[in-house]
Amino acid sequence: MTSSVPTAAPTAAPNPAIAQLGNPILRTLAQPVPEPEAPWVGDLIESLLANLGPGVGIAAPQIGQPHRVVIIASHPSDRYPQAPTMEPLALINPQIVAWDPATVEDWEGCLSVPGLRGCVGRAQGVTVEFYDRQGQFHRREFRDFVARIVQHELDHLDGLVFLDRVKATTDLMVETEWRKRILPPPGSIAPGG
Ligand SMILES: [Zn+2]
Repeated sequence: MTSSVPTAAPTAAPNPAIAQLGNPILRTLAQPVPEPEAPWVGDLIESLLANLGPGVGIAAPQIGQPHRVVIIASHPSDRYPQAPTMEPLALINPQIVAWDPATVEDWEGCLSVPGLRGCVGRAQGVTVEFYDRQGQFHRREFRDFVARIVQHELDHLDGLVFLDRVKATTDLMVETEWRKRILPPPGSIAPGG
């Protein structure tokens, strides 16, 4: 028997290094990094990159490290076919200093919340101040999908996950259902980008 419903991709086994919802580290306020250029911070960034997998972002608390460090790594995938490609970018002590007043609703998932997707409103653009691993200060604006990743990852530094941002539990879907009902077919343009 054939079906017109796209077959869900097999779900990868959870990475045991990633803290899962219920682990108190995900609800802990992460601490500022006193010296962004310290060698241990470089090691932490390498660990984050090693555990990123197919994800588009990861925050240090997700690997059990309560420090204010995140990786942003947008790339297109079946989940996000319109995502821009960027080199993974490490943000140390990131702080959002300006928000675009426009809000966009879109679906998010999380390495720490496997199997669930939630529709979350986020600012369409954010301006972020941060340090890089050489200790250089940056102030940079991110927009659209990358701005969404930034807001999702910075929430992790404040003990929040995307589930805390959904307006109603009816905005949650099990991933297999989300893939069948929401995920755009290959080659299509996702509404709202
Ligand atoms: Zn997450």
